[in-house]
Amino acid sequence: MSAVAQPREKREISIDTAPPVNVVQTVKDVREALALPRSSGSVIGLVPTMGALHPGHEALIGGARRECGIVVVSIFVNPLQFGPNEDYARYPRTLEKDVEICRRQGTDVVFNPSPDEMYPLPPLTFAEVTRVSEHLCGKFRPGHFRGVATVVLKLFNIVRPDRAYFGEKDMQQLAVIRRMVADLNIPVEIAAVPTVREPDGLAISSRNQHLNSAERKAAPVLYRALEEAVKRIRSGERDASKVREAAIAILESEPLVRIEYLEIVDPTEIQPLSTISGPVRIAAAVWIGGTRLIDNVAV
Ligand code: AMP
Repeated sequence: MSAVAQPREKREISIDTAPPVNVVQTVKDVREALALPRSSGSVIGLVPTMGALHPGHEALIGGARRECGIVVVSIFVNPLQFGPNEDYARYPRTLEKDVEICRRQGTDVVFNPSPDEMYPLPPLTFAEVTRVSEHLCGKFRPGHFRGVATVVLKLFNIVRPDRAYFGEKDMQQLAVIRRMVADLNIPVEIAAVPTVREPDGLAISSRNQHLNSAERKAAPVLYRALEEAVKRIRSGERDASKVREAAIAILESEPLVRIEYLEIVDPTEIQPLSTISGPVRIAAAVWIGGTRLIDNVAV
């Protein structure tokens, strides 16, 4: 499933009646802000983000707004999920703009802790979801999903949401969180939101802004390759290696692209399949210049 971003003009001509957002930085303050609504029975929705908010995040916040009494957006670039040679330092940080987007989307509380607030001590305790985080991004970003699961578990413990919203764009992350919640009996409902795309198919990502104009022009090849795989499966191909070959050929037709992986996996444990016999996800990661892009589709 996918959705196309609404043109910006459309949002800007609507009458802005959204009240201000309560922006808090500490665990104590976010708990205090939620104490009263929680005790009066409001459904609390959490949207965990790393900021640099875009229409993909807006779709998550919109879902939470429709389904919950109180919407909390966390904005935290989590050092624990970045490898030593990854882009933690250059990850875009645009808090002021983000708070304005949150306000317009009807957010009640923005939780924007510092790294010291989240990790006052070097952590010795981690959440690790094995197997589900073994392949795809897990293979190429060792420790990434341990960092993600740990920070999400901490956010769940800090905010204690009834529902939490995640994008299908990060399908393996969603599977990791779902499994953690099931394995550890965490009392939260996980809601999945379809990937929001640019009109040319490129999945919207905070990292797209690093693409130069030639790279940006090349980038939709990723979605085209995934669509080719979908087409092959829909027309009856059941041999995963044949489907992969067809999709990889599309990616290889674009000289700016370097393929990291393209796999066909089962949607719950994210294990690569050789034969397609039920619902699958086709997932890929590519490098375009110095920017790593991921995407996936369901069949
Ligand atoms: P991030 O800020 O990149 O950590 O993403 C925060 C949440 O937004 C995650 O659950 C992502 O899966 C989700 N997200 C990011 N991009 C998109 C998109 N294009 N469509 C839908 N959800 C997205």
